[in-house]
Amino acid sequence: MCAAMTNVASASAEPPPVSPQAQAAGLVDVRSVVPDARIDLRYATADNFVGVQLYPADARCLVHESMADGLATAANQLRAQGKQLVFWDCYRPHEVQVRMFQEVPNPNWVARPSDYARSHEAGRSVDVTVADGHYGWLLDMGTGFDDFTPKSLAYATDGVTAEQQANRALLRTAMEAGGLTVYPGEWWHFDGPGAKDPRPILDVPVN
Ligand SMILES: [Zn+2]
Repeated sequence: MCAAMTNVASASAEPPPVSPQAQAAGLVDVRSVVPDARIDLRYATADNFVGVQLYPADARCLVHESMADGLATAANQLRAQGKQLVFWDCYRPHEVQVRMFQEVPNPNWVARPSDYARSHEAGRSVDVTVADGHYGWLLDMGTGFDDFTPKSLAYATDGVTAEQQANRALLRTAMEAGGLTVYPGEWWHFDGPGAKDPRPILDVPVN
């Protein structure tokens, strides 16, 4: 099937319902909130820092419903500027978090797995960037996703050009308009309301 046709179809169609377990946990498919969201889940491919596929290929971007309004606001603000929100990671199952920490056992870069769900494990954080809405290219943020160097710090200036800093600020401003706050350690990571609060471990299908 033609990939372009698939994209057109999925951009306009309502996503299928999430699993009963995800629904019970208050998770929604981000495309039901941001219909033109570009979903590029790196952990559903081998193109990530672990180098292996950690999610099923049909993984979806699931977020807790408490992030829905904020993400819609952020996407609206970007859309008004001809930009599109791109999602690299959303809800992340606990077992995947454990595997990541085994690969990068540095709590500054990968949250240490605990007996509670927070952040991505609770569906209350997202990793995002911005694309040009017309041409589709990603804005130059100075690093790629999961670049474990000081240039990834949200407010880094060393080795980050003025344009790259401005692009990061554009993303932050839109997300902050939706009440979503950047993690100072990673320009792409944003927390929704209550993301840091400990909650029971959540283990629901990511597809
Ligand atoms: Zn993140």
